Order: sequence, then C-alpha cells, then structure tokens
Amino acid sequence: MKIPAIAIHGGSGTITFDTNNSELKKRYLNALNSTLDEVYEMLSGGSSATECVSKAVSIMEDCDLFNAGKGSVFTANGNHEMDAAIMNGETLEAGAVAGLQGVKNPVLVAYDVLQNTPFVMIAGEEAIEYARHKNFKLETDSYFYTQLRYDQWQEIKGAAGMKLDHSGEGAKFGTVGAVAVDNEGNVAAATSTGGMTNKAWGRVGDSPLIGAGTYANNKTCAISCTGHGEYFIRGVVAYDVSCRMEYGGKSLKQAAYDVIYKKLKRMGGEGGLIAVDSSGNICMPFNTKGMYRGMKNEAQTIARIF
Ligand code: ASP
Repeated sequence: MKIPAIAIHGGSGTITFDTNNSELKKRYLNALNSTLDEVYEMLSGGSSATECVSKAVSIMEDCDLFNAGKGSVFTANGNHEMDAAIMNGETLEAGAVAGLQGVKNPVLVAYDVLQNTPFVMIAGEEAIEYARHKNFKLETDSYFYTQLRYDQWQEIKGAAGMKLDHSGEGAKFGTVGAVAVDNEGNVAAATSTGGMTNKAWGRVGDSPLIGAGTYANNKTCAISCTGHGEYFIRGVVAYDVSCRMEYGGKSLKQAAYDVIYKKLKRMGGEGGLIAVDSSGNICMPFNTKGMYRGMKNEAQTIARIF
C-alpha cells in the first residue's frame, strides 16, 4: 500500500492583503484547510485519486473566493463561461468541458465525460445541453454574481483586451485545481476555472486542455496549473513536466522547477502549478508573488499563500 497525498491550489498572482483584510486572508486559509481535511479523509479511507480530485475541485467551485464555479469572473458579455478537466493517471482517461454557462460544478460534468462518453472534451451550447440532460445542478445568473468579480469587470469593460482575475494592486489567477495519489499509487489531476475577466469570442484557456493545464500519468506525475493560460498552452506546461521526468530522467521537483522558473519565465508567462508523483512527492512552484495552495499527507498539512 502506498501513502496517499493531496495538493490543491486556488490560483496564483500578485496577491495582496492589507492588515485590515486579515479576515479575508483567514477565509482563504480556512477554505484551503477544510478542503484538504475533507478530501484527505476520503483518500485515506480508500477512495481513488480521481474521485478525490473531483471532490476537492467541486468543493472549491462552491466557494465564492475562487475563480471557478460560483466565483467565476465575468466575460466581455457579462456572462460566466467555465472550463474544467480531469485526468486519471492510471488509465490515461480524461474528460473536459469548455464554455459552460449556468452549470454549478463544471468538474463533475468533466468527470462524467471521462466516465460515460468516448470523447475527451465537449464545449459550448451542446455541453450545457449534456449537463442538463444528465441532470447536473444548474444555477441562475444571480448564483454566479459576486460583487468583487463584477467590480473587476466594470474596471475594464469595453476595453479590447481581457484581464487576469484582477485583485488589489496586481493580477491574480483564481483557478482551482487538485492533484492526488491514492492508496494504490494511482495519480489524478483536475482543474476548473472561470478563465480571465472580460474574455471574449469563446476564449478557452489552458485549464481544460489535457497536457497544457491538466495532466496525469502514473509513470510520472499529476499536474494542475494556474496562470496566464495562453503561455501554458504554448508551453504545453503540464505535459512538459511529465516529459522531462519520463524521457529526461528528472525528479518531479527538478522538472517542475525548470518549467516554471526557467522555461515559462523566459516566455514571459506568469503562474504556477501543483504536482504529485506516485511516491507521494509534492511540489508547488510559482513565479508570481503568491499562490493559494495546500497539501496534506500522513505527516503534515500545509496551507499557504506566499
Ligand atoms: N489558467 C487560467 C486561464 O488562463 C486562469 C487562471 O489560472 O486563473 O484560463
């Protein structure tokens, strides 16, 4: 039997809290800790890594602090378009959704695509129809309305570009993700996002793209990314970490650090990732000021922002 472990993230970026805002900081840390506690109990009780990452991401989708599910950012049209993906590192099966509107938990739909269809990704109107047909919980616009995201959108509404999940002085990416290794030594990864504020034209980021923002393979590791999606797509970041391990003989840490601190930085890409290998090693590098992140195994629980 292997020793199970889980890591989660709630996005990276220039995260700033002034002293008056320590309540907010506490809320973030509580959200990370309670997600870790609940899902680690499942994991150590024998649930599979794939079930556990799906659960962890769905809990964070229900929390308005993160840019996924309930807390998703506004698009240029004032909607919320969500993307999610999940991958099983034992079977290499994957499921993903893009451009979902009005669906409470996109990651659960992605998991259903993995389990019950011959496809990897479904998108747009038909994907929403699929969620409806499968009786996934739907929500109205008011559920997805948060004052913070609305204000962020108002700041840049009408501008040509899209912006990062902007907060305080700097840019923040609030995507959520989870990676886990279970009792059997199987790894899995899941990621869910509202994307970037004011995104237009059906823009899809790295999160639902297998190999870019999400990847899992028992031979190497499971990875969930957060950051400026276009760089992660062009850098094929998640798969590149896996490849450096598989073909280059690098350790998880060497591979992940090289990609985030060297390759991505050279490209001008901001962000980070969480990763676990089948021995339970975890690393959580980021090249931004902070990244909401946490990990839990038998020996320790860690939740950090900076
Ligand atoms: N990677 C996400 C995207 O580009 C954003 C994020 O990490 O918050 O859609």
